[in-house]
Amino acid sequence: MNEFKILVVEDEKNISDLVVQYLLRENYQTFVAYDGEEALEIFNKTTIHLIILDLMLPKLSGEEVCVRIRAKSDVPIIMLTAKAHEYDKIEGLDIGADDYVTKPFSPRELMGRVKALLRRSYRMSDPLAQKLIFQGGDLEVDINKMLVKKKGITVPLTVNEFKVLTSLLANPGQVLSRDQLIQAALGHDYDGYDRTIDTYIKNIRQKIEDNSKEPKYIITVYGAGYKFGGM
Ligand code: CA
Repeated sequence: MNEFKILVVEDEKNISDLVVQYLLRENYQTFVAYDGEEALEIFNKTTIHLIILDLMLPKLSGEEVCVRIRAKSDVPIIMLTAKAHEYDKIEGLDIGADDYVTKPFSPRELMGRVKALLRRSYRMSDPLAQKLIFQGGDLEVDINKMLVKKKGITVPLTVNEFKVLTSLLANPGQVLSRDQLIQAALGHDYDGYDRTIDTYIKNIRQKIEDNSKEPKYIITVYGAGYKFGGM
């Protein structure tokens, strides 16, 4: 299995089965929703990296699902549309799908679109780009822009929180003591208590971890300090 989780939203079971079968062949983790409400439910409780979204759905239409997801996330979305005129509608509404495929479609072509869109959306860590991506896009850190995104949504970190996070990132897997973190992140002339670091860590965790009580990015090493655990 690779780390990408793909949500297929399609009420016609023969089509969703076919798409899932192709996705599994490419080693993606897959989730299926058979109506619009179920799609939002799954999206809200799972880290989804790409959505294949049918337009004509029970309960909530694909357009409505797209609009609601776009209100809080820029997760890549591929629309499945039955007719060409439906695409005109999507385009007219400008609801924020990244790509579309018209039915009947070739599953191979759809897989090509999925791969291309994932590549475009989650470039793998490239130090020159200074944009670091962890857990398949769950966390993005753009060093130059001082921008952090969690599940595609910009996280407002203070300057000091950003410095603490990037000091840990710069030394992946290595334990930094509170003193070392203060030196690295805040500089020599910082005159706060070393416990101030704990407050920064607590705030950062609340912003970037799924569960700040069970952190996977900023790991406490008891008696020693902290280390970055993201991959
Ligand atoms: Ca349908």
